Amino acid sequence: MKLPGQLYVDGAYREAASGARTSLINPATEAEFTTVSAAGTADVEAAVASAQRAWEGGWRDLAPGKRAEILYRIARLLRDYVEHIAEFEMLQIGKPIADARDEAGLGARVFEYYAGAISQFGGQTLPVARGGFDFTLRQSMGVVAAIVPWNFPFPIACWKVAPALAAGNCVVLKPASLSPLTALALGEIAHAAGLPAGVLQVLPGSGSVVGDALVSHPLIRKVSFTGSTEVGRHIMGLAAKDIKRVSLELGGKSPNIVFADADWQKAADNSPMSVFANTGQDCCARSRVYVERSVYEPFVERFVGATQKLIVGDPTHTETQLGPMVSAGQRASVEAYLDDARKTGATIACGGGRPLAKGYYLSPTVLLNAGADSKCWREEIFGPVVAITPFDDEAAMLRDVNASPYGLSGSIWTQNLSRALRVSRAVQSGVLSVNSHSSVHVEAPFGGFKTSGLGRDLGMSAMEGYTELKNVYVAE
Ligand code: NAP
Ligand code: MG
Repeated sequence: MKLPGQLYVDGAYREAASGARTSLINPATEAEFTTVSAAGTADVEAAVASAQRAWEGGWRDLAPGKRAEILYRIARLLRDYVEHIAEFEMLQIGKPIADARDEAGLGARVFEYYAGAISQFGGQTLPVARGGFDFTLRQSMGVVAAIVPWNFPFPIACWKVAPALAAGNCVVLKPASLSPLTALALGEIAHAAGLPAGVLQVLPGSGSVVGDALVSHPLIRKVSFTGSTEVGRHIMGLAAKDIKRVSLELGGKSPNIVFADADWQKAADNSPMSVFANTGQDCCARSRVYVERSVYEPFVERFVGATQKLIVGDPTHTETQLGPMVSAGQRASVEAYLDDARKTGATIACGGGRPLAKGYYLSPTVLLNAGADSKCWREEIFGPVVAITPFDDEAAMLRDVNASPYGLSGSIWTQNLSRALRVSRAVQSGVLSVNSHSSVHVEAPFGGFKTSGLGRDLGMSAMEGYTELKNVYVAE
């Protein structure tokens, strides 16, 4: 498979109508390695019109078994191309190759899950008053816009495209400007696997141009977005005009709560990668750690030791755990948080600097003594930075946890079952793990409370989110 370089519309690659192109920089080398067409509003018009034709022309009415067969074929072909997808992902965002391979496989698994879900998904018969018969239908919506970020470009595209297609919709996918390649590869592979032309369009281009045009387009029935809370809010505002359906998966500042009765050694060994994986550019990053005071000092020592052993470097090496950050701008934004942390009295237990001369690298950084109102304790940093604090009282700790405007994920470490259940109920977030940091399961709903989002990706919840619910009453 060649490096994609154009828009994918109506089952074929084509240049943007304006001829515009943007260059892609490899974050590990800081060198430009390719250019890609940048869509404009004329391309949005063409892609939405083609998707609408494909929906009316047959995709919505295709027998469920046929739709499932095509999704299974997409999954199989994605598995054949795992190496290509992983290499494109690594080149465009600096993701370590081992992670990129896992995530390419996860994307294929998502298509398998929704291929199977098709035959299990439908309406209900309801027990209304005598004299009639009542049933519900789950119907496709039409054309869905999927707008995705650069941190997990390929799996998040699959999280949205697979259930939307499974439910009978057509999709226009807009990847982040920094990471168009694997979205384009998905379009090409899906078509090669038998997806009819127009059912999936891929439009790289700027968020303010392509994203806004999609969200404002009258034929777009639903917008499924993952990215910043700021852009999510903007999209929800634009969508209000036509009462478009939206699902939003936004930022987070997820807590990692360690009680003294836990296997805290295991927690300390496992926790660095719960925040530093993907170089901290993860909406689920466990970026504020609360440790019960009696184990705080040994926990911190062990956490810092495990952090210093992480392998930071060349993403082409299979043993690399942390690659560079995605861009110079993203690193600068994280460094500004570190400057503020230093100024406001936090101490840096390890990291804080640039480990390599070339590439947008930043060492994994552990902050201690961050003020309860400091930016580094309150705001999403989206980089390899964690802050750790001791706590004495469960109720006071939970008040601080829930004072955050975010509520995406979190971890709870304890051996006490009633405490695990009580705290799981109390933490205001959409996804929690006990004695683990695992947040994402293809079969289970994923999404946030409060400003972390609206609606759910994955599981059968996502299928529901790509349908309209209709009720039909028939008199006997
Ligand atoms: P972002 O601006 O929210 O970008 C996410 C997606 O939205 C991209 O495809 C982007 O396109 C698009 N977009 C931007 N402006 C838009 C608009 N006006 N209308 C419609 N779509 C628009 O995120 P970012 O700038 O890449 O990152 C900024 C911060 O967002 C990060 O530091 C982090 O805090 C957060 N973030 C969260 C997640 C997550 O998984 N929840 C993922 C990424 C970032 P362009 O790429 O062309 O701008
Ligand atoms: Mg942005």
